[in-house]
Amino acid sequence: MRVVLVGPPGAGKGTQAQFIASHFAVPKISTGDIFRANVSAGTELGRAAQTYMDAGDLVPDEVTIAMVRQRLAEPDVTEGFLLDGFPRNVAQAEVLGQLLAELGTPLDAVLELVVDHDEVVRRLSGRRTCRVCQHVWHLDYDPPAHAGVCDQCGGELYLRPDDAEATVRHRLEVYDAQTAPIVEYYAAHGILIGIDATGPVEEVTDRAIGGLRRFAQPSTGRQPS
Ligand code: ADP
Ligand code: AMP
Repeated sequence: MRVVLVGPPGAGKGTQAQFIASHFAVPKISTGDIFRANVSAGTELGRAAQTYMDAGDLVPDEVTIAMVRQRLAEPDVTEGFLLDGFPRNVAQAEVLGQLLAELGTPLDAVLELVVDHDEVVRRLSGRRTCRVCQHVWHLDYDPPAHAGVCDQCGGELYLRPDDAEATVRHRLEVYDAQTAPIVEYYAAHGILIGIDATGPVEEVTDRAIGGLRRFAQPSTGRQPS
């Protein structure tokens, strides 16, 4: 099963990706997570990406595409993958299409998480991310048992610099101008599935899995690994 998750920042892509990937037993590939891990590790890739990320802009295509090309060449993706955060503009979508055509493994579906901007702003202002395992919490909707500490690994929770209010507003503009056109692009290719991403996380997961079921046999359980 080869699927792309799309939706504005804060739509719940990372939250849903862990359940969907686990349910269908495919690796989750989050370009945002890969960039953040590289920023923390101080790699050349992290240095190339950080200024853009902090400003809420897209990292240049040549950097992002080279990273994704490398990731999709790894052996664990032969049975499928769930892409979270890529592609984010039409140029990236076209390169992904060419790359998958060369491999003879086209995308099965693009799942759009539909949620309005007001809800996204509420979600991002309360988002707290674990510095260690990158698990995502929410101060109101999904609080950790102990403030500031990740229940999964004991790591420190932090407010992502790009979740500051002004940067969120800019990221939403970037989404509308650059990423929303890929929704039309994939609709024209006949592989877009849109689901309502509001309401409890479990209900959104059920809608997502229901929409994708026809593309794969599920593995066991729905817990993230
Ligand atoms: P994205 O990866 O699309 O940027 P996240 O998965 O990080 O979004 O979710 C953004 C924030 O919203 C997180 O704090 C998460 O806990 C919270 N969240 C995710 N899904 C829901 C939901 N269905 N209802 C309420 N809050 C949610
Ligand atoms: P995310 O974790 O998906 O919200 O991504 C965080 C940031 O990483 C974005 O605001 C961008 O700066 C960068 N990023 C992630 N994915 C991409 C992509 N496909 N193209 C360009 N920049 C990206």
